[in-house]
Amino acid sequence: MNALAPTESKALPAGADASAQAQQQARTERENHKLEKRLCREVGRAIVDYNMIEEGDKVMVCVSGGKDSYAMLDILLKLQQRAPVRFELVAVNLDQKQPGFPAHVLPEYLSTLGVPFHIETQDTYSIVKRVIPEGKTMCSLCSRLRRGILYRVAEELGCTKIALGHHRDDILQTLFLNLFFASKLKGMPPKLASDDGKNVVIRPLAYVNEKDLIAWAQVRQFPIIPCTLCGSQDGLQRQVVGDMLREWDKKFPGRLENLFTGLQNVVPSHLMDRQLHNFSEIRATGVADAQGDKAFDPENFAPAPGAIRFVD
Ligand code: SF4
Repeated sequence: MNALAPTESKALPAGADASAQAQQQARTERENHKLEKRLCREVGRAIVDYNMIEEGDKVMVCVSGGKDSYAMLDILLKLQQRAPVRFELVAVNLDQKQPGFPAHVLPEYLSTLGVPFHIETQDTYSIVKRVIPEGKTMCSLCSRLRRGILYRVAEELGCTKIALGHHRDDILQTLFLNLFFASKLKGMPPKLASDDGKNVVIRPLAYVNEKDLIAWAQVRQFPIIPCTLCGSQDGLQRQVVGDMLREWDKKFPGRLENLFTGLQNVVPSHLMDRQLHNFSEIRATGVADAQGDKAFDPENFAPAPGAIRFVD
């Protein structure tokens, strides 16, 4: 597959001359090249910032057949060629036996890449259908089963890290879903030990915005497998929050970037979590501190490093 596929050129009106077509083609190639560079840079930056991949790691790349996991594998393969550390990649797909799942698509695609891969076939679909009453959402049980299987497979394959394809917008959506429905100021970590304590989960796309992944999927013509095969509706609230964020992005360019940067500039003393900050022991120290309370002064919304300045 060619990253700069000529088929991605924007169509010109019939009758456009050859030189206009060539210019259009060159423009498309330049845009695609910039996109590829940006994706590699952002994934590389996240890997370094959170020390996601270390010398000798064997990374299990979870590939679902969606655009995000295809892009993650694609970019990790590129970075593997030029990274200063040596690491292995193994692509893993879990075939949950959902009706209509085209089981041949991923093995065929992964074979063309030449990356080691493993397809784990487990009929969790039947289990979920049997256990969950008709009309109820199946996602919570389905994800729990999937999680357990992937942890086991990671161990069996001797993997030291499990890479998931969540991106920046997934992280922001999770932040708002937690705030709106769980009363928690909690996002999605770029790197964390798994809940069974046996694996380390990483999210190399943490800095990548979804728009770039959509564009890259088009450029690379990934053989996307639809994610609606199970017929579950559980993503509804996530969809609503996603729409809210997209609307903000359209109306207020830079807002999502600043929100995301905000997740990396947390000031526990200015929140209210008594576990994070010892409010009961606060005493006047007699030493001036720029981070101290400014009493009645209005908050100074000076942008943190990396934040984008809004122009009103
Ligand atoms: S959307 Fe379908 S496949 Fe995905 S977690 Fe829910 S039930 Fe499982």
